[in-house]
Amino acid sequence: MAEAATKTKQNVDFSRIREQFPVLSQEVKGQPLVYLDNAASSQMPTRVADRIDAYHRNEHANVHRGIHTLSQKATDAYEETRKKVQQFINAEHQEEIIYTTGTTDSINLVAHSFGDRFIDEGDEILISEIEHHANIVPWQMVAERKGAKVQVIPVNDDGDIIWDEYVNLLNEKTAIVAVGHVSNALGTVHPVKKMIAKAHEYEIPVLVDGAQAVPHTPVDVQDLSADFYAFSAHKMCGPTGFGILYGKKQYLDKMPPYRGGGDMIDKVSFEETTYNITPHKFEAGTPPIAAGIGFGETISFLEEVGMQNIADKEHQLLSYGTKQLQSIDGIRIIGTSQEKASVLSFVHNNIHAADIGTILDQQGIAIRTGHHCAQPTMRRFNVPATARASLSFYNTKDDIDRLIEGIKKAISIFNDS
Ligand code: PLP
Repeated sequence: MAEAATKTKQNVDFSRIREQFPVLSQEVKGQPLVYLDNAASSQMPTRVADRIDAYHRNEHANVHRGIHTLSQKATDAYEETRKKVQQFINAEHQEEIIYTTGTTDSINLVAHSFGDRFIDEGDEILISEIEHHANIVPWQMVAERKGAKVQVIPVNDDGDIIWDEYVNLLNEKTAIVAVGHVSNALGTVHPVKKMIAKAHEYEIPVLVDGAQAVPHTPVDVQDLSADFYAFSAHKMCGPTGFGILYGKKQYLDKMPPYRGGGDMIDKVSFEETTYNITPHKFEAGTPPIAAGIGFGETISFLEEVGMQNIADKEHQLLSYGTKQLQSIDGIRIIGTSQEKASVLSFVHNNIHAADIGTILDQQGIAIRTGHHCAQPTMRRFNVPATARASLSFYNTKDDIDRLIEGIKKAISIFNDS
C-alpha cells in the first residue's frame, strides 16, 4: 500500500534494535521483564529520550513567538516534526498535520469543531461496535449538543464489521463515519480503505482512529483517502502528551477553532477577533514542545527500522502467539478475525482475567486486563474483561514462550487451590 513501505524493506537485526530500549533489560519481581502492554503505551528508545533531554538541557525556549536565537531554534526543531509526520503518513500538505495531545484530543477536536460546523439536528454519526471510548464518547457529546444520533455498525463473532449492515446504515443523514483502523481490544484491522471508498460514494467524510495502526503498519492517508486520521506518539515509542490529527484541508479550512488563546489568532480586539490559518488555528497556547521535538526523533527511528519490517515481525509474533495460546486448555481468544494486528485478547473459562494478570506480574510479565476502554466490545462478546497481551517489534519469541508458561502456571495455581 504505502510506497514508503516497500522503500524501507530490508533485513533488520531486531535483537540490536531491542538493545536500544534500556527499560526492557530490567528485572521485575526477580525475573527479566517481559513487556506485553504495548497497546497501552510502548517503550522509548534511548535516542528519543536523549533528544528530549537535550532540548531541556540546552535548547529550551517557547516556540513561534520569539525573535531570539533560542526560540527560533526551538521553533525550527518543533516544526521539523510536522514535515516528518507529513512524509511518514504521506499527507499532501504540511498544514494538514495538526499537533494535539493524543488520539483522544484529536477526536475531540473533530467531534467539536467539525460537529459545530457540519453536524445538524437529525443527522447520524456512524461508529463501529468495537470502538475505544475515545471514539464513542466525543460523538455522543456532540450528538447530544446538536440533536444528532450515534448509529452503530455491528460486528460478527470474529470481530469483523458486518459489511452489509455498514452499507445499509449509510444514508443522506450520515454526517460522518468514525471508525478505528485497528481495534485495541481485539486487534481487528477494519477494512478502512474500502469503508472510506463506500462512504465517499455518498460524500460522507470518514475519521479513522489510527491509535493502534500507525505504530504497527505503514499508513498512507492519501492512499486510504481518509478525511481525518488520529494517532498518539506514546503508542509508537514516542513521548506521552503528544499526538496528531491529520485532516484534509478542504475540511480544516472550514472548521472553526476548537480552543481559544495565544498562537491561534490573527488579530484580537475587544470588538472582533480573527483567527490564524490551519493548522495554527487549532493549536492554542504553549504546546508540549519537548514532546513534539522528541516525536520527530521517534519518526526518524521508526523509518530507519522500516514500518513494513515492523509489520512483518509483529505478524510473525502474532501467528506464533495465537497458535501457542490456542493450545492451552480452557483459553479462548476473543477477536479471531483473519485480519489482525499485534493484539492477543483472551479469557479462561474459570479464571478471571485480573487474576491471570496478577499471577503473570508475579513472574515479571506485564499484560493488561479489564475492558480496555472498550466496554461495548466486552458486552458484544459477553465477557466482563479480557487479558490482553499486545506486541511490539522489540518483543521476541522468547517473550511469547514466557507468557505461555506464565499462563500455564496461573492455571495450575488455580487448579490446585
Ligand atoms: N483509540 C484507540 C484505538 C486506543 O487504543 C487508544 C488508547 O488506548 C485511544 C484511542 C486513546 O489514545 P490516547 O489515550 O493516547 O489519547
